[in-house]
Amino acid sequence: MTTNAPAPTAAPARSRRGSRILVTGGAGFIGSAYVRALLRPGGPAVAVTVLDSLTYAGSLARLDAARDDPRFTFVRGGVCDVELVDALVADHGPIVHFAAESHVDRSIADGTDFVRTNVLGTQTLLDAALRHGAGPFLHVSTDEVYGSLPHGAATEEHPLAPNSPYAASKAAADLVALAHHRTHGLDVRVTRCSNNFGPHQHPEKLIPRFVAALLEGESVPLYGDGLQVRDWLHTEDHVRGLELVRAAGRPGEVYNIGGGTSLTNLELTHRLLALCGADAGRIAHVRDRKGHDRRYAVDHTKISTELGYRPRVDFDEALARTVRWYREHRSWWRPLVRARR
Ligand code: NAD
Repeated sequence: MTTNAPAPTAAPARSRRGSRILVTGGAGFIGSAYVRALLRPGGPAVAVTVLDSLTYAGSLARLDAARDDPRFTFVRGGVCDVELVDALVADHGPIVHFAAESHVDRSIADGTDFVRTNVLGTQTLLDAALRHGAGPFLHVSTDEVYGSLPHGAATEEHPLAPNSPYAASKAAADLVALAHHRTHGLDVRVTRCSNNFGPHQHPEKLIPRFVAALLEGESVPLYGDGLQVRDWLHTEDHVRGLELVRAAGRPGEVYNIGGGTSLTNLELTHRLLALCGADAGRIAHVRDRKGHDRRYAVDHTKISTELGYRPRVDFDEALARTVRWYREHRSWWRPLVRARR
């Protein structure tokens, strides 16, 4: 069911609200994977409402699998829209907040939308959650808030030292969310994940961008020397981690979610070249991104020991599966690649 505005409702019983989950940014890459997982056969007994403004990064096609499910509602609208957010939150219990401007390069070009959506949008949702006693409020954040780590891995206690305007806007939102727990007792839980990969990711991001270029016979633009290190997390593992935190995480706590496969961008590029049947001649070294963080690494011991999380996906098998998905879904990503040019 798709609608532009929620139908007016009498104050719903708390128990009914508890099984109605509001997912912001659910037409995005990770949010849609979360919705598909919630509504899968044998999934939890919940109804799901997606609130998404469908920016360039949103795509309803990612929700095709849920479209005809009677438990699913799509609302097109923004997280800064106070009235809309208020009406939706009044009718839901848990809030899982993915909506964000998410591309670092764009934040370097102009950070305004990042502060508006990522910070003000989060505040708008928190205000509504407080007014209506909604929760838990699961705030989906990023390991980029810890900044670049020369060695070791960041635990949840690591100081926040974001470098890009994107990471700074996410760190600000994390602090605003946690302040609502400390000040008002709102049940806020924050997750900080590493770099996600999987099907349906916008081809502005590294893996789909390189796969799309390779499948089109083009070269891949690798920033600088390519020795930036990232931890890779498949969306299936991420979604499992998020569900553990939603179901059993502690209010006011932060949980890192990592994938456990750490690679330089150059190593990753070589794996993609091999999977696409291309050679190193297709690598074009381009000028490095401004302020490019050299290395991210998260320690996910806390979610593992407290909630039993462990990444289950085998990286190489999942990367091959991901490349196959892009090979088989050219009609999905080709218009997005063209729109970027
Ligand atoms: P995405 O860019 O694919 O999706 C974002 C979604 O939010 C889109 O559907 C977009 O239409 C929607 N949106 C944007 N502004 C909105 C607004 N004002 N109101 C309502 N909807 C709006 O992002 P993603 O990769 O799926 O990331 C989801 C979350 O996970 C983000 O909060 C991001 O910061 C975080 N995260 C992502 C990664 C990653 O590797 N992709 C890593 C760490 C953290």
